[in-house]
Amino acid sequence: MLTKIDHIGIAVRDLEEAMKVYGDFTLKDADHIEELDSEGVKIAFFNVGESSIELLQPIREDCAIAKHISKRGEGIHHICYAVEDLEKAMKSLVDKGYRCLDETPRDGAHNTKVAFFHPKQTLSTLIELSQKK
Ligand code: ZN
Repeated sequence: MLTKIDHIGIAVRDLEEAMKVYGDFTLKDADHIEELDSEGVKIAFFNVGESSIELLQPIREDCAIAKHISKRGEGIHHICYAVEDLEKAMKSLVDKGYRCLDETPRDGAHNTKVAFFHPKQTLSTLIELSQKK
């Protein structure tokens, strides 16, 4: 069902500072930057091989990333896996008893639709499934 690790999401307070760090490690500029207003975040992607690092900075205090940072500080927020058929994957996992945070797919960054699974059932790791639109 999962086809690859699409990206690892890292919650950061200051996107410019975080981009400098990943710029130093990847020896390039961010591959894609976007503001995802529906999620209250500004995002920078650094492609690393077939996967990427997604740096997420909150732009509103009431968004999930801001809450994550105030509770746990900066750091890894979620792992995203690519799937070919998101609705099918969601149904299959919900049928097995996993709690999906989304009843229907939501819009993700980079022209994707995504759904999240609650970390309580997934080894304390928030899992995002993503399908290209
Ligand atoms: Zn993500």
